[in-house]
Amino acid sequence: AKKDTGSAVRVFEPEMDRVESERRSLEVELRRAVIEREFELHYQPIMSVKTGRLRGFEALIRWRHPSRGLVPPADFIPLAEEAGLIEQMGEWVLFEACRQAVDWPGHLIVAVNVSARQFGSDRLVGTVRNALDESGLAAERLEVEITESVLLNDTQDNIEVLQQLRALNARIALDDFGTGYSSMGYLAKFPFNRIKIDRSFVRDIGDNKSSQAVIRAIVSLGSSLGMDITAEGVENADQLEVLISENCSDLQGYLFSPPIPRQDLHRVIEAYCGP
Ligand code: C2E
Ligand code: CA
Ligand code: CA
Ligand code: CA
Repeated sequence: AKKDTGSAVRVFEPEMDRVESERRSLEVELRRAVIEREFELHYQPIMSVKTGRLRGFEALIRWRHPSRGLVPPADFIPLAEEAGLIEQMGEWVLFEACRQAVDWPGHLIVAVNVSARQFGSDRLVGTVRNALDESGLAAERLEVEITESVLLNDTQDNIEVLQQLRALNARIALDDFGTGYSSMGYLAKFPFNRIKIDRSFVRDIGDNKSSQAVIRAIVSLGSSLGMDITAEGVENADQLEVLISENCSDLQGYLFSPPIPRQDLHRVIEAYCGP
């Protein structure tokens, strides 16, 4: 499809070149954004089923772009990984999340997403230790979220990183569970504190009997291993009812709240933590 780019030459430029040059200019902007610190964290409440109250927040990065507005992570995280910027970005996320969480009521946790590339680097454990030290956040209030993909290679190395994080007293959550290639057998092998059931299973509750069976199986095995179980992407009361009856321990989703900027957090904390 031709697009009017305002230049006769560019109109005939092959589509691939256009995509590639857009990618490159976005990469230049992303490098600038890392230096100028154009990122901010939004926080989504994690609700405890048992208490009906707030368990903590998941930190989710956004790019406050000077002209594009608020850019969601799906539009820049993959590029940041490719461009080798993800480690720097991920370190900022860890420090920033710890610095902010230390001001919340002491029983609330903060969950931070760590990309596969960042997890595979030698620096992660040191960064976590420094972020905890610098902020003064109690380690057990930090939960590191990783996806199954990090577990596929170098299994022994990965287990060691997880054990070192646990040795710091930080918590570890397995994110998006059920979407990757790993089997239930992985759960017993790695020291997770929490499993997050991917929102695709939650979405299919009601029109798909098998998704509820998968949820039941994950809860059963995870709980027997002493892990907390979060269901992600809870959007309606029907899903809520099923997830409670299937004994999920924690819930996250638009039904409770979307991710919100830090300046609005106090309202959620007041509403969900009680007086
Ligand atoms: P995720 O870790 O699975 O985060 C959950 C995503 O689901 C978030 O999208 C959240 O806004 C969205 N969500 C929450 N509740 C609902 C719901 O009820 N329905 C639906 N449809 N969506 C819901 P977001 O913030 O756009 O983040 C997308 C992904 O980007 C994250 O998926 C995570 O993989 C990645 N990401 C976000 N922040 C970071 C970060 O600081 N570091 C790294 N490495 N990755 C990040
Ligand atoms: Ca996550
Ligand atoms: Ca997830
Ligand atoms: Ca995801």
